[in-house]
Amino acid sequence: MLRATLIGLSQNKAFGDWVISNGATRRMSRRFVAGEKLDEAVAVARDCNQHGMTASLDHLGENVTTEAEARQARDAYLENFDRIAAEKLDANVSLKLTQLGLDLSEDFCRGLLESVVDRAQKCGNFLRIDMEGSPYTQRTIDLCRRMRQRYADVGTVIQAYLFRSEDDVRGLLQAGIRIRLCKGAYKEPPDIAFPKKEDVDANYVKLMQMLLPSVTYHGIATHDPRMIAATTDFAAKQGIGKDKFEFQMLYGIRTDLQRQLVRDGYRMRVYIPYGNDWFPYFMRRLAERPANVMFFARHFLGR
Ligand SMILES: Cc1cc2nc3c(=O)[nH]c(=O)nc-3n(C[C@H](O)[C@H](O)[C@H](O)COP(=O)(O)OP(=O)(O)OC[C@H]3O[C@@H](n4cnc5c(N)ncnc54)[C@H](O)[C@@H]3O)c2cc1C
Repeated sequence: MLRATLIGLSQNKAFGDWVISNGATRRMSRRFVAGEKLDEAVAVARDCNQHGMTASLDHLGENVTTEAEARQARDAYLENFDRIAAEKLDANVSLKLTQLGLDLSEDFCRGLLESVVDRAQKCGNFLRIDMEGSPYTQRTIDLCRRMRQRYADVGTVIQAYLFRSEDDVRGLLQAGIRIRLCKGAYKEPPDIAFPKKEDVDANYVKLMQMLLPSVTYHGIATHDPRMIAATTDFAAKQGIGKDKFEFQMLYGIRTDLQRQLVRDGYRMRVYIPYGNDWFPYFMRRLAERPANVMFFARHFLGR
């Protein structure tokens, strides 16, 4: 109930504008967001590298309503790749297609995406296309597959809560596309997604077991110690090396576990969001863990 309310609120522009303009909530967002400027994200990525972790930079934004906003997002991503190269960071980039204008026109979005993937390739880097809510699933997969025909260095995300994901994994594996596996962060109806956490978790393990033995390099994105144990156990039993896949976690969440996995010899990539448009991302992080809401409410009221 709380999760659904928070995810619903994440799409409320008036509330979002108020939250973003409020000094206290801006400070609180720093728990999950590296900062508003690329410099701040670069500093966090450098720190991750120094602790033996790779990074993925995400210039926050989604569901843009004008072509000008989409072009600005494209430019920010081109700058990301140039900056990563100039700073010699061990980092790639993640973006959302609705930030590149998918709501406006698929052709327009594809044109911008192509320029970003092209820059990724020229820099010898990799672009991950994040997965958004179910109205975008098929178009995201289609655009990723289309890019993959010309560029090797593009991949996408599969959400374990969707019934369709097993078929999607099969198709993407056949196309040699790198997958980030996550549980899924949006509110989806019960006719297309598992409503119960235990079913999502069981599907997560099933999909992980499809990904790891494949020849392609995948990301296992979770903070859930049970999903992590299932992955490390499966890899050990199958003789799959620790360098054949990577774990991924979000900036600000379970830093202790991130570092522990590095000490245990696993690869760890930290997803580093930055930028002004942090409200929907922040609300999804609150929705994932009710304790976060209490923490922030106490902090806010206690000022
Ligand atoms: C690198 C990365 C990229 C992602 N990309 C996408 C994407 O493209 N599309 C998409 O739909 N989703 C994405 N997600 C979000 C994902 O779908 C889940 O919503 C999120 O990771 C929470 O699920 P979990 O696997 O951590 O397990 P959960 O069962 O939700 O959580 C397990 C434990 O992790 C900790 N935890 C989890 N979330 C939080 C939080 N917000 N605050 C504090 N502690 C927390 C808690 O200790 C919790 O008990 C991504 C996640 C990661 C790590």
